[in-house]
Amino acid sequence: MIEVRGLYKRHGTLEVLRDVSFSVERGKVAAVIGPSGSGKSTLLRCINGLERFERGEVRVGELVLVPDASSRAGAAVLAAVRKKVGFVFQQFNLFPHLDVLGNIIEAPVHVLGKSRKEAEADAEQLLARVDLSAKTRAFPHQLSGGQQQRVAIARALAMHPDVLLFDEPTSALDPLMASEVMSVISSLAKAGQTMVVVTHQLGLVRAVADTVHVFAEATRVEHGPTESVFAEPQHETTRAFLRKLAEW
Ligand code: ADP
Ligand code: MG
Repeated sequence: MIEVRGLYKRHGTLEVLRDVSFSVERGKVAAVIGPSGSGKSTLLRCINGLERFERGEVRVGELVLVPDASSRAGAAVLAAVRKKVGFVFQQFNLFPHLDVLGNIIEAPVHVLGKSRKEAEADAEQLLARVDLSAKTRAFPHQLSGGQQQRVAIARALAMHPDVLLFDEPTSALDPLMASEVMSVISSLAKAGQTMVVVTHQLGLVRAVADTVHVFAEATRVEHGPTESVFAEPQHETTRAFLRKLAEW
């Protein structure tokens, strides 16, 4: 479903991703872990076309992003990728002036051209999936962080994306709210949603990830099935990182 090959990205003279390869099969969940500044968010942003890159290739299903996406064909691919790849941010990023329903139907109506009625019916179902049916008419400021993040997940699902990317979805939440969000992510994993989850929460990795990919200093230093990476980490960065997280 996702195939990244030889991805190279820099900001000025700073190398942010050095020849990164990364793939996720359809229906599987990949966790990306690693210290701050190692390029995890940038990888996600390259996968959904929010960020350009200098070399390499990003493939999502049949769509291929290449370094020069400025041509007309490139722009069409970019638009298609953004429809197929959903993104959930650490800080939720809900539209503050829209209620929950308004947040969820915005893109289906304006990007996909769905009727309001159809989009609302779908939104009701998605809200049930994230256990927020009672909050349809609430505004973001009236919701807890955990509730806002679950609305953000429903909003991403409303596009029926092939892939969902999560960038530290529980980092801004206290443990109770984090666990509400983690259980929603788990249920999506069980339903076969292809996902990439950047997180520092080892419990979440254990619960949902088929594979773990460890980043350090702009590159992937280790990857493999979750159990084997946790049981026998090969790289010193992985060992140090797992030790540090286990201490919390
Ligand atoms: P992570 O998500 O692993 O913390 P990021 O992908 O956010 O890492 O960032 C990787 C590196 O790229 C960091 O050193 C960061 O400071 C740098 N960086 C990210 N975005 C920009 C930008 N727009 N301009 C300059 N440097 C950036
Ligand atoms: Mg980040």
